[in-house]
Amino acid sequence: MCICQGVSPSVLSWLCEDPRVPSHSQQAFRSALAFVDRWQGLREAYRTLPPPERSLSTQPDVFVFDCHNTESVPGKIIPTPENCTDPTAFEALSYTRNFIVFMDKIFARNSLDDAGFTVISSVHYSRSYPNAFWNGSQTAFGDGDGLIFKGMTNADDFVGHELAHGLTQYTAKLKYEGEAGALNESISDIFGSMARQWKRRWTAETADWVIGSDMMGTVAIQNNWLCLRSLKDPMAISSLSKQAMHYRDYNPDGWPHDNSGISNHAFFLAAQALGGYSWESYGRVWYGAMTGTEIHPLTTFKEFASITLDEARRLFPSARHVEQHLKGAWQAVGVI
Ligand SMILES: [Zn+2]
Repeated sequence: MCICQGVSPSVLSWLCEDPRVPSHSQQAFRSALAFVDRWQGLREAYRTLPPPERSLSTQPDVFVFDCHNTESVPGKIIPTPENCTDPTAFEALSYTRNFIVFMDKIFARNSLDDAGFTVISSVHYSRSYPNAFWNGSQTAFGDGDGLIFKGMTNADDFVGHELAHGLTQYTAKLKYEGEAGALNESISDIFGSMARQWKRRWTAETADWVIGSDMMGTVAIQNNWLCLRSLKDPMAISSLSKQAMHYRDYNPDGWPHDNSGISNHAFFLAAQALGGYSWESYGRVWYGAMTGTEIHPLTTFKEFASITLDEARRLFPSARHVEQHLKGAWQAVGVI
């Protein structure tokens, strides 16, 4: 069991050894790896939180705190992040709000828990910390090493990824291990990407289908590392995190992020085949699967595929091609 880190330990491990990565950045990645053990078990403790009280707030609040480069969360509150001279605070506020408004407008969901959960986002966590996390009650973002990652709040899809862990915590409650762990990470990438697509009115054809492209630093770009992950091509050379994209490549000993490319790619394939806005079609299907009664903490890929196909039939009874494209996508990644 391990708390989500937006940049997976597999990526941190190779970056701190790669000769193309400057030594200052290698040190930052090495330090970030040390957090993996520190947070062991924390995610599991939060996963089993009791259901929230309903209707605590009709308008979810978003607060931004400043850790001042310490490892203490939440840190000190920033009173008016929208007027703050620190662009990091503004990014954290605006991208967090975008995700919360996306959940409200598209899924009629009142914040992460559907009960008006107050969202706290901490910036400037630790020193040159090239990562971000959801700790069960809030998000926190480092400043990045500066060369591989500019700043961890620069990318709206990466911010959305972390917030979506809160959504999973209050819905599917997927464990952070095995296939359920991979699904947990995949759901975060898919909802992070959809919130970005929604903000820009991107269709499945015009969307970038990558995570983290806006936070890549100069040295990363020089090396043609253009994103953290890709839903379109999980094995892309230009992606820092090479992931399995077919079930035959599922690694039972891998980190959840290493295997989440399988369902990421299925979502991409289905959305691309259908066309239009992904949040209007498979976004609703995925949300229905996460909030329904069939999903359970150890859901496998095969079970999840079956649940999403049921949802596609239920939500689009007179548009059978929605289900058919989804079936084709799960077959293409070898899950069914
Ligand atoms: Zn994650």
